[in-house]
Amino acid sequence: MPADAVRVDLGGGYLLPGLLNLHTHLSISLPGAAGDRVEAMGPHELALYMASGAERTLLAGVTTVRCVAEKSGADFALRAAIEAGEVRGPRVFTAGRALCCTGGHGAGSPDTLECDGADSFRRGVRSQVALGADLVKVMVSGGIAGEHEQISTPQLTDDELAAVISTAHDWGRKVTAHAGPAAVIARAVALGLDCVEHGYQLTPEVAAQMAAAGTALVPTLVVTRCGAFFDELGVPAWMQARSLGAADQHAASYRMALEAGVEVLLGSDMPPFWDFEGTSATVRELEHMAVLGAPAGMTPARALQAATIAPARWLGAEDRVGVVAPGRFADLVLVDEDPTADVAALRTLRWVMKGGRVVRDDSTDLTRRAR
Ligand SMILES: [Zn+2]
Repeated sequence: MPADAVRVDLGGGYLLPGLLNLHTHLSISLPGAAGDRVEAMGPHELALYMASGAERTLLAGVTTVRCVAEKSGADFALRAAIEAGEVRGPRVFTAGRALCCTGGHGAGSPDTLECDGADSFRRGVRSQVALGADLVKVMVSGGIAGEHEQISTPQLTDDELAAVISTAHDWGRKVTAHAGPAAVIARAVALGLDCVEHGYQLTPEVAAQMAAAGTALVPTLVVTRCGAFFDELGVPAWMQARSLGAADQHAASYRMALEAGVEVLLGSDMPPFWDFEGTSATVRELEHMAVLGAPAGMTPARALQAATIAPARWLGAEDRVGVVAPGRFADLVLVDEDPTADVAALRTLRWVMKGGRVVRDDSTDLTRRAR
């Protein structure tokens, strides 16, 4: 131990790397009253709202996020403010605005950029990279939140997909795609896609193709099991029915991916810090990954890797985050129970450090201890 090292007595517990959440939107606005309020925010309100979300994300033990569609470039300002120490928040890797086709998934909102044709998609990729995007997000199929589409709707042509992926790769950026149906995923993986979001409707064949190609899956299982959250936000019945109705197939797809050996990564889609059934959306997602994946060989230890070292590797940041080791950033969380026995132990999280600085300590925070 170095002579100038500081000893911190945490009173026992289990120390693990700060969590990485690879599917977040700090400016998310789902259909419904709460989403309409966010959608109507001007740039100042939006920046403050996102800064507040970033701080709450960090306090929830998530020390790194990958934003996969944020409104109006506010994510770049947020990332800069966090790096400058002006706002407390996680380390941010961001895609900027997501690319979609006219009328496609997420269209009509400032968190997407509508493109049509290969040239237009190339321009879309370059425009986000020019603003500082660390990766590229593209919507290649329909989704749950779009009233005029189905999850199974393919939305990009092969030449558009190829344009996005090859341009991003030329500029050293990975591409992740909002994608539901197996047929659309198969086309995108063949063209070099790096990651699939949701993957609601996989088949064993396409899961095997993903595993062979090294394409990761961020299953976002909470998206189809969050009725209470939708009620809280005033999400309309048509969307709730579509979301909750996809739960079984979603879980089956996830298990196919595990059985095929696909790298799965933690991502909540919903705000990482949001209260979900007595814990954060991030921890709830991890619990779903462990419980729903258990019949397909998922263990608590592997689930923890999906929340730490595996996403760090996807981001190309494993030399800095995702492990507890000398020379890495001291991004750490402390829990009271053994998370390798049951990931629900993360519900006992009571201390968070980012970059060597303690940002949460419930033992000295009387407001938290009193709860
Ligand atoms: Zn999303």
